[in-house]
Amino acid sequence: MDNDFPILVVDDDLVSRAVIQKYLHKAGFDVISAGNGKEALSLFDQRFCPIVLTDWMMPEINGPQLCRMIREKKTDGYVFIILITARDSKNDIVSGLQAGADDYLTKPIHPAELIARINTGIRILRLEQSLKNANEEIRLLSITDPLTGCFNRTYLGERFSQELSRSLRYNHALSVVLTDIDHFKKVNDTYGHQAGDLVLKSFAKCIMEQIREKIDWVVRFGGEEFLIILPETGGAGLERVAERVRVAVSKMPIPCGQNNLEITASFGGACANFSQKKDLGMTMEQLIDQADEQLYRSKREGRNRTNIKVLL
Ligand SMILES: [Mg+2]
Repeated sequence: MDNDFPILVVDDDLVSRAVIQKYLHKAGFDVISAGNGKEALSLFDQRFCPIVLTDWMMPEINGPQLCRMIREKKTDGYVFIILITARDSKNDIVSGLQAGADDYLTKPIHPAELIARINTGIRILRLEQSLKNANEEIRLLSITDPLTGCFNRTYLGERFSQELSRSLRYNHALSVVLTDIDHFKKVNDTYGHQAGDLVLKSFAKCIMEQIREKIDWVVRFGGEEFLIILPETGGAGLERVAERVRVAVSKMPIPCGQNNLEITASFGGACANFSQKKDLGMTMEQLIDQADEQLYRSKREGRNRTNIKVLL
């Protein structure tokens, strides 16, 4: 029924533990169990359980103590904790909730109540998950260009400084490629802006297919200008990547109505080589400026070509 939310049952009493487990299994839950707090913590470390059902009275680590220990852990998500107690004086319940429990059940356990409380927990966990997803979506929207799916300049500012300091720390090279679609204005003027958008999307997709996933990244730098960031890449690698993208772009037909649009792009690369164990005093802007100079050289020399510069 609900294998997304495994339940950890902790009870020092073998019979009571077996009964709870039986109820939960019958309701289709994925259950693991522990006979004491220590065992529970070690199981919990091996496999994250978002729902913990723990007895109150246990030797060494009792239920409220286990609650506190779980709350102190850095977990993958929220843990919904239910305390099981023979006590039902108000003071005891308050101290259990203060220890970090979300809910409590009193012994003897009523099976339907047990399942209802677990389902309450699942509702809360699902809510937490959907909030997390929504936050991630908002974050992604705030750092990407909606048309091409490339990162935007906000993200460039955030992440580039990290790339730069990491390269410096490990004495690795860091390269950037600035690329611009040749005669893009003509596409817009001849075929309209929809065709222009299609070209931009195809161009971005083509770049992303030619770079290393999760290592290299692409920013839509301006209208038809894109910046490719290549960590741990020296001059030779830089030139190879830029040429590979250039050739792929020139061979990529873009179906647009009756036409097959063909485009080319020009490339300018700059590599900051930190392998000499010296700080080049390089800023992001300076490195991009150097790539920009090379891009303009490529444009001047007739477009559809690559020029690079290695800074030592
Ligand atoms: Mg007990």
